[in-house]
Amino acid sequence: MAETKWVYGFDEVADAEKHTGGDWDGVRALLGGKGANLGDMTRLGVPVPPGYTVTTEACLAYLAGGEEFPPGCWDQIETALGRVEKATGKRFGDPREPLLVSCRSGAKFSMPGMMDTVLNIGLNDEVAEGMVRLTGDERFVYDSYRRLVQMFGGVVLGQPDEAFEEVLERHRHEAGVAIDSELSADRLKAIVAEFRALAPGFPIDPRQQLRLATEAVFKSWNGKRAIDYRNAAGIAHDLGTAVNIQTMVFGNMGEGSATGVAMSRNATTGEAKIEGDYLINAQGEDVVAGIRATKPLEQLADDLPEMYDQFAAIAARLERHYREMQDMEFTVERGKLWILQTRAGKRTAQAAVRIAADLADEGLISREEAVMRVKPDQVDFFLHPQFSAESLRGAVKLAKGLNVSPGAAVGIAAFDADLAERWAKVDGKPTIMVRPETKPDDVHGMLAAEGILTSRGGRTSHAALVARQFGKPAVVGVAELEIDMAARTLTVAGRTITEGDWISIDGTSGAVYLGRLETVVPDISDPWLMKLLSWADELRTLRVRANADYPVDAERARRYGAEGIGLTRTEHMFFETERLPLVQKMIMTTDPAERAEALAGLLPYQRGDFEGLFRAMDGLPVIIRLIDPPLHEFLPSSHDLTKRLIDLKVEEARGAAVAGDIAEVEGLLARVEALHEANPMLGTRGVRLGIMIPELTRMQVRAVFEAACNVTRDGVKVHPEVMIPLVSHVNELKRQREVLEAEARQVMAEQGLEIEYLFGTMIEIPRAALTAEEIAQYAEFFSFGTNDLTQTTFGISRDDAESGFLMRYLSEGILAENPFATLDRNGVGKIMRLAVEGGRATRPNLEVGICGEHGGDPKSIALCHELGLDYVSCSPFRVPIARLAAAQAAVEMPR
Ligand code: ADP
Ligand code: MG
Ligand code: MG
Repeated sequence: MAETKWVYGFDEVADAEKHTGGDWDGVRALLGGKGANLGDMTRLGVPVPPGYTVTTEACLAYLAGGEEFPPGCWDQIETALGRVEKATGKRFGDPREPLLVSCRSGAKFSMPGMMDTVLNIGLNDEVAEGMVRLTGDERFVYDSYRRLVQMFGGVVLGQPDEAFEEVLERHRHEAGVAIDSELSADRLKAIVAEFRALAPGFPIDPRQQLRLATEAVFKSWNGKRAIDYRNAAGIAHDLGTAVNIQTMVFGNMGEGSATGVAMSRNATTGEAKIEGDYLINAQGEDVVAGIRATKPLEQLADDLPEMYDQFAAIAARLERHYREMQDMEFTVERGKLWILQTRAGKRTAQAAVRIAADLADEGLISREEAVMRVKPDQVDFFLHPQFSAESLRGAVKLAKGLNVSPGAAVGIAAFDADLAERWAKVDGKPTIMVRPETKPDDVHGMLAAEGILTSRGGRTSHAALVARQFGKPAVVGVAELEIDMAARTLTVAGRTITEGDWISIDGTSGAVYLGRLETVVPDISDPWLMKLLSWADELRTLRVRANADYPVDAERARRYGAEGIGLTRTEHMFFETERLPLVQKMIMTTDPAERAEALAGLLPYQRGDFEGLFRAMDGLPVIIRLIDPPLHEFLPSSHDLTKRLIDLKVEEARGAAVAGDIAEVEGLLARVEALHEANPMLGTRGVRLGIMIPELTRMQVRAVFEAACNVTRDGVKVHPEVMIPLVSHVNELKRQREVLEAEARQVMAEQGLEIEYLFGTMIEIPRAALTAEEIAQYAEFFSFGTNDLTQTTFGISRDDAESGFLMRYLSEGILAENPFATLDRNGVGKIMRLAVEGGRATRPNLEVGICGEHGGDPKSIALCHELGLDYVSCSPFRVPIARLAAAQAAVEMPR
């Protein structure tokens, strides 16, 4: 059996490829990302200092074998070193023509938690003297030597770096210089001696240096830093790290030498222009360490013009080769350019979008690849203000809550809606509305505020729903906030914020910050984003609709690319101030005539709302869901009523004539108590309500069809779809359909117009899904209400769970993901599959979509694609994200 190949020269990358069957990902796993690319660049003819890679397999064998090199490994290292000596014409450890090398770790995935690099291996007193004779540059030689001892001491021997830095600091002070490169040769020599005393374990034998450094890299794979990093980044623990041994090139050989890092494009904006930093007369990490002020790469064109041109050409070439923006390290040694590393560059969301679009336009990647390269979350960036990176650096984070509505917001804390509105509108001060929780009466303050912060409530709390509806950044359920409404203060993390003080909230992450952070506002109309999304539209098969209750939302949704409305919640319209009394009257009365009167009063409002939606969605389908919530939500709470009653009785005792008011409040209270349900989530709501009060259904249907006829006369194309919520039995639907069809026919006869419409239902109770064949006899479309479907499938009340046991389930791994954020594939997903199959068995052209919040979650969108849904519907602010996610699902799973 042939001996395992543990070591690959940079010029043997083709052998590594053969070993992994031509699979580049396999080469990266074997040689690490850094080693694979060093080999690849060598093959391309890019100037890379010669060297070799000890494989990740050798690392794993070393660790498994009780920290011993596996058989043959050290011999192969010696052989490889011999080949490097030959290639460079130098000899490792020989003072006459010394070869120095670096020892660099490199795992498959870049891991900042890993061991650092050791440069200048191969130096000792004797070799140093030899190098001085050769180069005539004592300063350079002892600078290199002190770096070796310092790095070896820190990295291999575990000496804290501070001790070394103190020595340097003292010498700089004594010599009266600001930077290390200005220290004289004599001083550097003295520093080396002091460093050696600090690192008594430093081996004089270059081979021993090499061996210990290599072993230290191997061992660092199991170091605490590395393990923590892998746990956090989700990187497997069984990959191992490779070690790269590479001929040293020197950027610290005087004014004709330099070292730097550069990106092939701007990593912030994505502009197709190389950018970077460099230092003249410096080595390795000096550039990133920030000890000396670096120069911008453009200046290299003046300092060393030929080097700049060569580098720019290589950057362009590497970008073409990898078909991706590159992050590179280079060194110039006395007029000769060397490339020391290249890898895909990290970038902002904005840059990611522009670079993907540009690379496709330049023909380097296909449009499909461009669409796959941008993460849906990166699109989200364009839709909301963000805190600038600089301001976050010094920010004081106070707490973290639920990130229910994305975007950054900054303002002065206002503890009630009226004040928030006054400060914002009258005084023109940005405000953050801070409340324990919000109620429908608070909406005016929420709208005026920049953002909303509450200490209670979950993802479906009033604050969360309203915030998402209007695209207001919001953080809710921050349990640590102690809001003292009497003192008008907020205490958190040992700090007290008084009303009027500045705070900043990040609805994207859920973080709350002290003071006034700076925000930056990106933009959906970014031309590269528009281009990328238009490519996504060509690829996707899922349609994207929006959930919108108001014409302004519908218009925004359309601007963002929505292809219709998947959910209009009609009850939101009932909560508005001037309508609520009519709604309450309708609920309070038991007299049919009075109820009819109240409903007749509501009709014009509803009709007006629908007309607005139809106009905004001209030519596109609009799903209108009939009233869903239990009636008590429209009445004051019994708690408030009881308090009011007590106040009135006190007033009466003092002689006030309030008998009439008392009777009214008593009446309300009696009705509220009669409507009280032990479990309203499973009580009289949805279709059940429509069956109990068919007049309500009739009024809503009349409003829909009168609105449709009115706008049709103005030339608007309407496609209404009427949707019944919370159906569990086919007979419920059958009954509602009769009521609805009769009313619709009557309106159309009155108006003398024929409106094409669909009648359908939400699927949000498992029984409806399980009997989808029957339900589809009466439904022309299904829409999964996955918020309720998840609640009813799990038997979990979301609001209670998210502020309670669900968090524990997630932290302890009982549930891997929050099923209210990402569809539960195995349970809820299975029920959805049954419903799709059952429904289409009865009605092959059944239209199926989803309108729960999952409709805006990329992973859930992929499942919807897989299940063969026709569309997803989500908040207008998620529409662009959904367009991209749907395209990615289509590319990954063609259908
Ligand atoms: P990291 O992964 O932390 O960037 P590297 O192995 O890339 O570590 O090395 C750290 C620094 O040392 C980089 O600036 C790199 O360019 C430089 N360096 C590494 N090897 C050599 C070498 N053989 N010659 C010159 N500089 C080197
Ligand atoms: Mg480093
Ligand atoms: Mg590097």
